[in-house]
Amino acid sequence: MTAEVICVGTELLLGDILNTNAQFLAKQLAGLGIPHYYQTVVGDNPERLKQVLEIATARSPQGGGLARTQILLFTGGLGPTPDDLTTETIADFFNAPLVERPEVIEDITRKYAQRGREMTPSNRKQALIPQGADILPNPAGTAPGIIWQPRPNLTILTFPGVPSELKRMWQETAVPYLKSQGWGKQIIYSRMLRFWGIAESALAEKVSSLLDLPNPTVAPYAGQGEVRLRVSAFASSETAALELIKPVEQEIQQIAGLDYYGADNDTLASVVGQLLQSSGQTLSVAESCTGGGLGQMLTTISGSSSYFMGGVISYDNQVKISLLDVNPEDLAQHGAVSDLVAQQMAIGVKQRLATDWGVSITGIAGPGDGTETKPVGLVYIGIAAPDNTVESLKYQLNPQQERSLIRQMSACQALDLL
Ligand code: ATP
Ligand code: MG
Repeated sequence: MTAEVICVGTELLLGDILNTNAQFLAKQLAGLGIPHYYQTVVGDNPERLKQVLEIATARSPQGGGLARTQILLFTGGLGPTPDDLTTETIADFFNAPLVERPEVIEDITRKYAQRGREMTPSNRKQALIPQGADILPNPAGTAPGIIWQPRPNLTILTFPGVPSELKRMWQETAVPYLKSQGWGKQIIYSRMLRFWGIAESALAEKVSSLLDLPNPTVAPYAGQGEVRLRVSAFASSETAALELIKPVEQEIQQIAGLDYYGADNDTLASVVGQLLQSSGQTLSVAESCTGGGLGQMLTTISGSSSYFMGGVISYDNQVKISLLDVNPEDLAQHGAVSDLVAQQMAIGVKQRLATDWGVSITGIAGPGDGTETKPVGLVYIGIAAPDNTVESLKYQLNPQQERSLIRQMSACQALDLL
């Protein structure tokens, strides 16, 4: 069920008054959890009002035969003057005859009498209601609104333009009505799924069949190195929303494979932490270009002391040799930024700190100290596993990126590899 707000009044188009009714209704709809995708302002002109109705109510094959909107909320144009045309134009649009409702005549007569006046003939117009419509009483003014279902899956509510009258009718009659229809009980609930190691466009392509779902909806977002998919559902409760989200989330995880790492508040470091904690294993790090950044990420997680033992910041080659047992000849021959040195750093720190896992990072964070063969952004990550096997992976990050970002991305890459 989606709603659309249509404000009628040439004074709005002329800029004489601010459209506070649209703002009021928009906030109210959001508070009720009724999706609201369109707002229109149209002058006191029956032809143009019909065009607005045409657009809002046209049934499209793409929408499964449904119109773009199921609840139309009108404000303005319910008064007794000739420029107040909303009710009769709506009736005309749906080919419904107008019927004079005696209870409205009675109500207006009574209100006038209270003020010591007599009802004018022009007020009779306000008692003309489309056949089949219910009256939306207006306790504060003379013009009643209507609640009308001119056809299945379409409900029309009309309100006067005067903001105080609209607000009272909205609270006293419209909200209870919308809730009684089960429309005002929906909430929007979202899960943010997180991915590392895949570009936004590549992920969007992989899950393209899911990007058109109506409920839940799936929308991609690009972050710093990370890509996210927000899966949002409209439902009556968080539990009901999660039930809609769960199968889609599982499908996405299956499609994304190892590129998926977590959801909502998960970070690469927290996920690595959970895995280590649940397996009872420990980790140490040997960092060159990141200068402690990986250790910093790991230790932002409270409780990390149970699995993260510590690390060596081996920025200088001499430290790689003396504290991590990197072979000086390999270092001279291959350079510090190399597969072999990354592997030796990982093994070295794992052995020295007696941990199950050892992770190393060595790379060129720049700017400026890159070469033809070893450009800025070149990073090697070594991983020494509990069974003492070791592997290393080479990454070429964007050399145009800032030093701090290359360092941060390198650390994330290492966590992702783990
Ligand atoms: P009335 O019985 O008073 O004629 P009505 O339903 O015909 O009510 P309008 O004539 O369209 O309503 O508007 C009455 C007054 O309400 C306007 O002069 C304006 O001050 C205010 N109003 C109308 N529409 C809006 C709006 N969208 N936002 C804020 N104020 C509005
Ligand atoms: Mg008026």
